[in-house]
Amino acid sequence: MNTYSKFHRTYLRVSIVSALIGWFSCAPNLVSGNEKVITLSDEVTVQKIDDDVWIHISFREVEGFGLVPANGLVIVSDGKGIAIDLPWTDGQTKTLFGWFRSEQGVEIELVIPTHSHDDCAGGLAEAHRQGADSWALKQTAEKLKEEEKEVPRNTFEKTKSLQRGETEVLLSYEGGGHTTDNIIAWLPAQKILFGGCAVKSLEAANIGYVKEADAKSWPIMLNGLLKNYPDAEKVVPGHGDAGGLDLVRHSIKMVNSGKKLGLFNRTTE
Ligand SMILES: [Zn+2]
Ligand SMILES: [Zn+2]
Repeated sequence: MNTYSKFHRTYLRVSIVSALIGWFSCAPNLVSGNEKVITLSDEVTVQKIDDDVWIHISFREVEGFGLVPANGLVIVSDGKGIAIDLPWTDGQTKTLFGWFRSEQGVEIELVIPTHSHDDCAGGLAEAHRQGADSWALKQTAEKLKEEEKEVPRNTFEKTKSLQRGETEVLLSYEGGGHTTDNIIAWLPAQKILFGGCAVKSLEAANIGYVKEADAKSWPIMLNGLLKNYPDAEKVVPGHGDAGGLDLVRHSIKMVNSGKKLGLFNRTTE
């Protein structure tokens, strides 16, 4: 069974437990502020959240629940771009690269999937075809290889600093959480923390897909984010609205109450 159908099956179960419907389908007005959401296609939007930083949002149909939005970033400098996470699919990734090239004069040269799932790495083959280089945690590359999917070209084991133009991105493995291979990306100049799927949005009604989660390490990892990135002015989750460090505190509560509800046990087979 592939990751997507596993996701779907577990998602259904978690949703029934939570008795909440439609948390994925709310319209993405990700960042409160004045920058408008630009629609690139039916499935991809972008929104500027800082001078040189965009959120990209891509959607994938999850049967019975509508479209699932997933977040990533594109950070630009001197016509060069770094993408943190890719859209779900190759087609969406092509749309994203094409729009930055033609409308912004930006070549996305480097992509970083923050774990192995499709909402991070699904467009990796297309990113490579578009000429981008890629970096990921070694464990992420190993998982993708095992699943016979496109594999990142470069790997690191704990932390990695990457630069394109003026942009600096610090990647760090802060411990297991949503998955055992989830990393975060820190933009020191912009004080933006991309928490990925280990960080939940405030409106997230449940913990999401936890079949591959590390329930024990997750709250420790999140507390580590509060300790290691106290300056974070914006925190971007894997799905839903960005905010501040309150998202991390909210996520700790969600993980802890999920543990009490037995959600992690229930979704482990
Ligand atoms: Zn995931
Ligand atoms: Zn996700």
